[in-house]
Amino acid sequence: MNVVVLVFDTVRRDRLSPYNGDIDFTPVFQEFAESSDVYMNAFSQAPWSFPSQLSFLSGLYPWQHQGNQSKPFVDGGIDCLPVKLRDEGYFTSMIHNNSWLTPVTGATKGFDEDRTILGKSRYFHSFWSSLGKSDLDIVQRKLILSFSKLNLLNPPKDCYGILDQIRSIERFLDRHSGRDFFCYINLVESHYPYNPPERYKKRHGVERDVGDLKSMPLEYGGRVFMDELDVLNRLYNAEIDFLDDLFGVVLNLFKKYGVYEDTLFVVFSDHGELIGEECKFGHHFSTNKHLINVPLIVKKPGVEGRVIEEVTEVRELHYMILNEVGANQYDEIKLMDGYACGMYEKPVIYREKLDSFYDYCLNDVFYIANEDGVFRVYGP
Ligand SMILES: [Zn+2]
Repeated sequence: MNVVVLVFDTVRRDRLSPYNGDIDFTPVFQEFAESSDVYMNAFSQAPWSFPSQLSFLSGLYPWQHQGNQSKPFVDGGIDCLPVKLRDEGYFTSMIHNNSWLTPVTGATKGFDEDRTILGKSRYFHSFWSSLGKSDLDIVQRKLILSFSKLNLLNPPKDCYGILDQIRSIERFLDRHSGRDFFCYINLVESHYPYNPPERYKKRHGVERDVGDLKSMPLEYGGRVFMDELDVLNRLYNAEIDFLDDLFGVVLNLFKKYGVYEDTLFVVFSDHGELIGEECKFGHHFSTNKHLINVPLIVKKPGVEGRVIEEVTEVRELHYMILNEVGANQYDEIKLMDGYACGMYEKPVIYREKLDSFYDYCLNDVFYIANEDGVFRVYGP
């Protein structure tokens, strides 16, 4: 059995028809969900890409893996999923255009091959690995931080386009579809700046370009203008509509290479997006349900799908996958066993103090386990 993890970046749960009956522009998600397990209460461990996806890769909470704004890299002592799956005989590949998850932040460690924004550059790769071998830890950290800040100013979509990614997936299948593989894909199409093809904009009744709007996400140093909420929502929906078609293209590639039926597909979003809620636009700076209550759909080979109401964490997917492939690695911390339900000594699941670069929005972001026996996530 193969394992494919598809992370759709910045996708709000309420914009997919399996979660909202009013949505009529996500037929691919709908059809996929009808034969899959649809998780109604899935929670991401953080409201932005790096700590959220690192929690998935490591199976750890952010307070354990310590990946945050001021330290956005993977600690060398953490065994991430590709390492564990490689031990089970899997060929592991990462096809990513998220600028937080690259060789720079250590997120590609353990993958047999990676196709990321910087992974494309052979020059950068050799520069980075030579730096990694030297004793320049402080320099390396400074470079990581500078690069991370640059990420926010240079939207990732422009670096490694969606068509490049689709081609990478096809090339990967061409070479490796005959063996057991783990393929970790992140599509950031619905991340700001919303710039869907014209026909999708037309379908959603929007003529303006995102660059012409006054609104810009908090993480880019901007703010939201309430008179632009309608056009922002239309542009965002047009991106989700486009993403739905891209999802269809990706699934068809797996069908074309004859591996669709024997593949475990784990599909989720690492966080959502605020479009006017809390008078905010963007993510990172809140734990609003539209950010951390994420879509999660799992398709297991030969198993009929069902609706799952149980609270599930993105972090737990790490263990779910290992168990599905027979590696039998169990989660040592299970929120629902009472651990974090008010009794755990560290009820704060995720807390992040933003550095001075982001002085304009100095909120702490945190999750807290509830004390009434039910786990929930609270905003600041
Ligand atoms: Zn993200």
